[in-house]
Amino acid sequence: MSENRAKERKRVGLLVKLAHKGVEEFAQKYATNLSEGGMFIRTREPKPRGTELNFKVEIADGQRVLQGIAVVRWTRAANDLAGPPGMGLEFLQLDDASRALVDRMLGPRAPAVAPVVPVVPVVDIEVEVAPAAPDNAVDLDLSALVDATPAPPEESPFDVDLGEPETVLPEVRSEAPPAPPQETPVVLEATVAPPPPPRLSGEPVFLRDVKPSDGTGPIIGIDLGTTNSACAVLVNGRPQILRSRDGHNTIPSVVSLSRDKLLVGHRAKGQLVLNPTQSIIGAKRLVGRDFDSPTVREVKERVHFEVVEDAARRAGVKLGEAVLSLEEVQGLVLKECREMAEQVLGVPVSRAVVTCPAYYSEPQREAVRRAGAMAGLKVERVLNEPTAAALAFGMNRELVKTVLVYDLGGGTFDATLLKLEGNVFEVLATGGDVFLGGVDFDNQLVDLLLERFAQWHKRPFSGDRVALSRVAEAAEKLKMSLSEMASFEVHLPMLELDAGGRPLDLRTTVTRAEEEAACAELVDRTIAAVQDVLLDAKLKASAVDDIVLVGGMSRMPLVREKLKALFKKPPHASVNADEAVALGAALYTGTVDKVSSLVLIDVVPMTLGVGRPGGGFHRLIERNTPLPATKSFGISTQQHEQTELEVLIFQGEDANVAGNEFVGAITISDLPKGPAGSVQVAVTVSLDAECVVRVEAREFRTRREVKATMATRYTNEELAQKLGISQAKRDEAQRARGAELEKRAGGFWGKLKSLFRR
Ligand code: AMP
Repeated sequence: MSENRAKERKRVGLLVKLAHKGVEEFAQKYATNLSEGGMFIRTREPKPRGTELNFKVEIADGQRVLQGIAVVRWTRAANDLAGPPGMGLEFLQLDDASRALVDRMLGPRAPAVAPVVPVVPVVDIEVEVAPAAPDNAVDLDLSALVDATPAPPEESPFDVDLGEPETVLPEVRSEAPPAPPQETPVVLEATVAPPPPPRLSGEPVFLRDVKPSDGTGPIIGIDLGTTNSACAVLVNGRPQILRSRDGHNTIPSVVSLSRDKLLVGHRAKGQLVLNPTQSIIGAKRLVGRDFDSPTVREVKERVHFEVVEDAARRAGVKLGEAVLSLEEVQGLVLKECREMAEQVLGVPVSRAVVTCPAYYSEPQREAVRRAGAMAGLKVERVLNEPTAAALAFGMNRELVKTVLVYDLGGGTFDATLLKLEGNVFEVLATGGDVFLGGVDFDNQLVDLLLERFAQWHKRPFSGDRVALSRVAEAAEKLKMSLSEMASFEVHLPMLELDAGGRPLDLRTTVTRAEEEAACAELVDRTIAAVQDVLLDAKLKASAVDDIVLVGGMSRMPLVREKLKALFKKPPHASVNADEAVALGAALYTGTVDKVSSLVLIDVVPMTLGVGRPGGGFHRLIERNTPLPATKSFGISTQQHEQTELEVLIFQGEDANVAGNEFVGAITISDLPKGPAGSVQVAVTVSLDAECVVRVEAREFRTRREVKATMATRYTNEELAQKLGISQAKRDEAQRARGAELEKRAGGFWGKLKSLFRR
């Protein structure tokens, strides 16, 4: 084991020895330090917030009274006048005997805030704990970075003060046997020093050791989701979801840095609450977008992690001291998928069909391919998610039907109408809202929970970002539970402290009716988007034969009710909303290897056009045009002896390029010299079946093909300059869009912003 590995930090061990002379005395005297969800430990050197502890509390005769796992939620310094110094621990796990004792010590529960509804389960915040040095953590080469943090002091880094006489013992390692019981009453062992701040090299070291795909072997279908990803494979012509050895059928699309370890998937998910600034979720929204693009500007405001410009001028993220491209983040998630598939299938996997949202622009689709390559996967096809879901619904069923795929996921909403005729799947129209998904529902419930908190404690919530993350996590659990139950109780112990230093809990019961009232407007927006798609396809609701639900959020009963009211029939129940996209991707793998035949006709998700001098947008290929699609236009030289021309391509529906995504610049070179205007070029832009842009240019007079390449990346400022528009105009268009989104998102984002000072 290298020196660095030996330095890896484990969960901190904590042994608290109290002077109480028996369980009864402990139960009587210690109860004031306890709540149902945690306890307060007096100490002058509290552990940093977020530190996980394996704790044991023993009394004078060595009897163990409490034992479990906890996390430090808040701390109070020695010079804080609000109360004694120490740390508030939240129990993550208590053994049965400890739980029974805590319940006995606390007696009957305090009354609830909201009207009491018949017994409901309690949602205590539950953090998925990342075990120390998890097996599948990606090892980073940190040799160049030998930790400059000073070693923990040898002597008593930590003490405990419970108002009793105390003795402090030196720190011991967790492997060491517990210190022998002391005569003196209070002893605490902090077995390992607090974790150092995360550090990474500035070099992109991630995925560097991945073996490139050899393009052989089985193909897996991957639903690369905003919040979760799933994999499936074709077995004897039937698609099957791959389940990991520990029984998971999805992998959280989360990458996190914890104690110099890069965690991916399930192990990273627990860090979202503990370590929100170092946990990347939702990379899918940003991947392949220019750092300066309107969407990135908006998303940047809404996430806990830092969005920065990567080496290719695209949006990247800061993790520790490294800047990761979003492709790397997606690559890490894809690698996790690949490894899980290899474990389950027992053979190397190096090919995949990966799905993406129908609205993905060309550079975003390319980014998915590159992310696959980084993970050692040859991406055989980037397949649209609604098409994949439709395959799961209708492939090999010889159906002749018009189907609506309603996909409400964690961050986005997609509505797609398809015509199925045997194994011909034709997309008629697609639409939706890139900024409408489960997280918006969570935000509504966060607002509701914070209102309840303010009502009960008669003061507004003023907790920190960890507290807010806990509320957000509880809101999501509440939302999911209310899809199954009529009411649900939320309990978050020790959310913040009052002026006197007393911990304040949030405990309230929310009914489904209350949730629906808070979220009805969001569901209505999805219904309006569905109606737009029907209009685009020139179809009436009655022409739709089946509705296929996709995405976790579509499980909300109100969604089903509103769809039923519009279509006068309930959505189809045969397709699993979480698995449909991965299953469809697996079905498509059969076509790649020619074991099944399938015709897919997709449509252009966003209008493709050219930027005009002054910032206008000249539309070339309209949204919802069937793919492949081609359009030609002519341009001519503006100056004498000009041998090169440049055309800027954008995607979007705004009349001005300021509101649209920049796709790339076509450079036409090697033109014959001549007076201004004498050289004319016919440029043909095509979108192939997978929506990849191709360009071709011919000199008009001679019909000779001239060189045309599409690549150059420009910053917002450079684009503004090239198009002769002021940066202020572009900024104004983007601000207007941001304000519109903020208005829609409710008060929660405002609160987040003020907390994160962004
Ligand atoms: P997806 O991107 O498809 O994985 O969807 C994730 C979103 O679905 C998240 O916002 C989840 O909170 C939400 N979700 C998952 N299960 C449920 C459920 N049973 N009821 C309501 N929302 C859910």
